[in-house]
Amino acid sequence: MPELPEVQTVVSDLNEKIIGDTITDFSSAWPKAIKGKTLTVFKKEIVGRKILGVRRLGKNIFVDLSGGKTLYLHLKMTGHLLIKSQIKDEFRPEHSGSNFDSNSNLEFKKLEIDSKFKIKNSKLKSHDYFADQVNQYIRHRFFLRTDTKLRNIDESTNKKSKSVKNFVDSNTFVGSNRYDKVMEFSDMRKFAKIVLGDTQDIANLPEIKSLGIDAMDPRLDFKKFDALLTEKKKMAIGIWLMDQHLLAGIGNIYRSEILFAAGVLPERKNESLTPVERKKIWQAMRSILKKAIRMRGTTDSDYRDTSGAPGGFQNVLQVYGKTGEKCQKCATIVARSKMGQRSVFYCPGCQK
Ligand SMILES: [Zn+2]
Repeated sequence: MPELPEVQTVVSDLNEKIIGDTITDFSSAWPKAIKGKTLTVFKKEIVGRKILGVRRLGKNIFVDLSGGKTLYLHLKMTGHLLIKSQIKDEFRPEHSGSNFDSNSNLEFKKLEIDSKFKIKNSKLKSHDYFADQVNQYIRHRFFLRTDTKLRNIDESTNKKSKSVKNFVDSNTFVGSNRYDKVMEFSDMRKFAKIVLGDTQDIANLPEIKSLGIDAMDPRLDFKKFDALLTEKKKMAIGIWLMDQHLLAGIGNIYRSEILFAAGVLPERKNESLTPVERKKIWQAMRSILKKAIRMRGTTDSDYRDTSGAPGGFQNVLQVYGKTGEKCQKCATIVARSKMGQRSVFYCPGCQK
């Protein structure tokens, strides 16, 4: 399941790619994912709204829309969002313009677009991530129209505005529900959730209201973290880190990595943790989540970013998924056990 770093990567991508866009149409092949509304009502209420911003709390995504509405998305096990624009059209000679006649200029143009959309490993012969099997389970489509006026105002001091404007100008729109971008919701297991409501009502949903403080919330300093640990002194640290009602954002990948980095066994009760160990856990939590965000998350199965590309943190995992392998620090064999119905991985040599 996507955890805080993966969801943050998606939120950052969306803020870069779809802010200011208007939703012009919506289609769904799995309307059961839409909670509390029929597909017809959902579509009627969402079409015509502008995307104002995208936020996150724990593993939950909130897309704030015009008219005081918020679209709440939970990716659950296998959900991920893909933003597709008519990028390929730009490479057609008629859209390239006289400045992009030669192959070398075409290559330059593509690289420029790639950097705009932060697609990693972008070479002309780069992998077409959208074609990967994991990205083929499209259950819902949000059709988006770029607001050229807003884009040009917002980005007037930014060199990106020229390419955005050229991109929009190069497309011809027909009809009232014209679009130049699609946000596709791929979800193999069909557990993902879509809720549309008034912003305040979404915040008051039981599953949102009951969430603990976000693990990356700036207000969560060590003092606050320590106080929260003390409130649940009989709880095992491996359970506590993953309990969304106490601390939001961490799942079984990052709890294993955090506790390994802190040198603490997952079954240790909070009350048994020394002040030094508590400090180490807090520091490991922040540094690992930050690093994982920087590396665009962990892909151990289905998670993909909005370009369809996998994250990078799976390449630096220390214990998660490493059962039977030698610990990279002390060569002890990495062990696995069940905790909170999920696997937890640890090194019996490094962790006390
Ligand atoms: Zn070890």
